[in-house]
Amino acid sequence: VAFSSCALPQKLLQNIETAGYGMPTPVQMQVIPAALDGKSLLVSADTGSGKTASFLIPIISHCANFRRSNFSNHKKPIAVVLTPTRELCIQVEDNAKLLGKGLPFKTALVVGGDPMARQLYRIQQGVELIIGTPGRLIDLLTKHDVELNDVKIFGLDEVDCILQRGFRDQVMQIFRALSQPQVLMYSATISQDIEKIASFMAKDVTVVSI
Ligand code: AMP
Repeated sequence: VAFSSCALPQKLLQNIETAGYGMPTPVQMQVIPAALDGKSLLVSADTGSGKTASFLIPIISHCANFRRSNFSNHKKPIAVVLTPTRELCIQVEDNAKLLGKGLPFKTALVVGGDPMARQLYRIQQGVELIIGTPGRLIDLLTKHDVELNDVKIFGLDEVDCILQRGFRDQVMQIFRALSQPQVLMYSATISQDIEKIASFMAKDVTVVSI
């Protein structure tokens, strides 16, 4: 399966090529078609597997298609990705900028260490994807009015680490602010607890293990 056989915007295919991704990795081969199909997934994948692009490619595709068919001056976010750390969020955003270049796809980083006012301003200017840590995003949501009711895709990277850091309640609270999203959940190991959370968030969850 090549990237070009997936129904992706032409510009996104170009960006994938420019990034030097020749063929999809095994996790990308399984995740991308299923995610484009709207399925919620629980994926066991490690760093280095190409997992980041496996959720970013369907997210960017969805965002670009959504903006092209829903004209509005009031652009609310349509995807949220949570990761356990500021560093990981920055990596995900760098990747997202690379793959989303030239498309109707802007990102906002919501992590500690940067002024919240600036992050809020950026969201208010209109972004497609919020990438954040659960603690800071909850902080932002409780102090400010950020509308997440257009969010249709919820990505959770390294959810085992997110839970280990004690952010379970925050993750659930963020989930409740979304609009019954498609869930793309990643974990190095899949415990019963993680399976339970995934099936709480989405009706039919497909488990992908490489
Ligand atoms: P990740 O598992 O998301 O941390 O990605 C590991 C590395 O693989 C990153 O540096 C990506 O840029 C790179 N990568 C992702 N997908 C591909 C691909 N299909 N072909 C070659 N490299 C890739």
